[in-house]
Amino acid sequence: MSLLDELRVKPGSKVNLAKIDAGYHGDYEDEGTSQAELDKYCRRLSELQAVMYAENKHSLLVVLQAMDAGGKDGTIKHVMEAWNPQGCSVVGFKVPTPEELAHDYLWRIHKMTPGKGHITVFNRSHYEDVLVVRVHNLVPKEVWSKRYNEINAFERQLTNSGTTLVKFFLHIDKEEQLQRFRDRFEESDKQWKISESDYKEREYWDEYQQAYMDALSKCSFNYAPWYIIPANHKWFRNLAVSQILVETMEGLKMKYPEPSVDLAAIKQLYHAEVAEASGLPPVEAVVKEIPKDKVKKGKKKGKKKKKNKKNRS
Ligand code: ADP
Repeated sequence: MSLLDELRVKPGSKVNLAKIDAGYHGDYEDEGTSQAELDKYCRRLSELQAVMYAENKHSLLVVLQAMDAGGKDGTIKHVMEAWNPQGCSVVGFKVPTPEELAHDYLWRIHKMTPGKGHITVFNRSHYEDVLVVRVHNLVPKEVWSKRYNEINAFERQLTNSGTTLVKFFLHIDKEEQLQRFRDRFEESDKQWKISESDYKEREYWDEYQQAYMDALSKCSFNYAPWYIIPANHKWFRNLAVSQILVETMEGLKMKYPEPSVDLAAIKQLYHAEVAEASGLPPVEAVVKEIPKDKVKKGKKKGKKKKKNKKNRS
């Protein structure tokens, strides 16, 4: 079974995160032995994005959610770097600004969704409105509890319009989170990430897990699936995310568009030596072969011009 089938939240199923091992790594042994496979997926992601951009028909929205230190940034760095920035953007959603709060919660989200040929990665998303908002009672229950259906309708609308949606929950356990917080002290390039609010949020671990379980259970459909990625092992997380993205994009059966010009004619006109090498007649021959009626038309045009000139004078 591929990881896509194994890690996908089946529509209608009830997720119990306590029963999902965040340290799981399937049949893969370790980082060293799986690196070649990750490289292969990343190369394939690069190719698939190039076709998506050229075909200009589909768009891809990748939603990344995780507890603090869950590895969203690392996933973006290691997997999404395969994509050319010309056709890909990453959008982070932070505490809403006053302007954003003055609108409905999907307002800031909808305008950042990808257009045709593009990929957008959401680093946090509209799901915060049923996660942090729920855990901290930022709006009453009767407001947030309606949002699951609203989110489902919104995502249905996106997918109906040609956007493919893939949602990843990077699942780490509580001990792993503490270890990652601790590691930040040891690595000088990670110290800037140390934040007291992360420790305070940790006190709400169980409430967050419950909120995640509801979102994952209520909002996973074939058209907008959630994947629970065991993410204690960063290498497995990267491997799983990249493999699922490759399979999803390959499923779109994208292809490069047909050239919009006559390739032989362009080759003959501008690359004479290449044309000759591939057996095409030289450009003079092509000119001679222009149908007579077209040549006549040209002459008539010339006459007309003269007439016009006469008329004007
Ligand atoms: P990150 O943790 O994603 O790297 P930050 O440390 O800036 O980035 O955290 C962003 C914060 O914004 C998080 O605490 C998150 O819960 C909060 N946030 C995002 N969306 C909302 C929202 N809709 N309402 C309230 N808080 C939100």
